[in-house]
Amino acid sequence: MKQRYQRVAILGVDGGGAFFSQAQTPCMDQLFAHGATTYRAVTSIPTISAECWGSMLLGVEPEKHGLTNEIVSLRPYDPLSPYPSVFRLARAAFPAAQLASFCNWNPINSGIIEEDLGVYKDTADSDAAVCEKVLAYLANNDPTLLFVQFDEVDGAGHKFGYGAALYLEKIAEIDALIGAIAAAYQEKGWANDTLFIVSADHGGNPLHGHGGDSDAEKLIFTGCAGRDIRHGEIEDMRVRDIAAITAEALGLTAPAAWTGQVPAGIFSC
Ligand SMILES: [Zn+2]
Repeated sequence: MKQRYQRVAILGVDGGGAFFSQAQTPCMDQLFAHGATTYRAVTSIPTISAECWGSMLLGVEPEKHGLTNEIVSLRPYDPLSPYPSVFRLARAAFPAAQLASFCNWNPINSGIIEEDLGVYKDTADSDAAVCEKVLAYLANNDPTLLFVQFDEVDGAGHKFGYGAALYLEKIAEIDALIGAIAAAYQEKGWANDTLFIVSADHGGNPLHGHGGDSDAEKLIFTGCAGRDIRHGEIEDMRVRDIAAITAEALGLTAPAAWTGQVPAGIFSC
């Protein structure tokens, strides 16, 4: 398989759902001005963090990867699982590459991304601090695959209600962090050879949080931006497809056990 990009950056917004359409997101608007986007990607059921981040990074639905918030908090992801993370594929193909994951919710680092891959992992207790660590890392490193998880939008959803004014303000704050990371790639001269993916793991119900299968909980924004991404709406996408898109971008052969697929037509050639 050909390697389409030197780098992929996956920037995840916990609990963002499809509510980006209601928030002020000037940085994402610019990032995806020529990108492929959807506000109707379907995440995994139940709409819970470990289940959904697991699907995004492991390429399969929760019935297969079996992760729950409790499990990812308690033990490392099985390095022998038939459902390897996209980081494992990247490590197999690029033994010397820098791979990095920065998560506010650290169980993703320990419980979803395998521990035996030499992935640089870090966490912080606020999304702004996570972003600062990412920027400091990018100043001196050139990761082939970068994953970042911001957590505070979900916190605002639980506190104020998903879709509430203060929740939408938090999305706007995270938009600025996403913009800062994209700008760092630009300044490094990497932007033309990077695929950027921004996605939520799940949304939430204005009153009841998340975990169910209502549209507010299960529909998420996903955007892809890169030089061979076809501008327009992504049709028929699931959260687990992000693993497949990442593999395609880096020229990695997706395991047969993955059920995620590259959505039709998102690459222009
Ligand atoms: Zn979540």
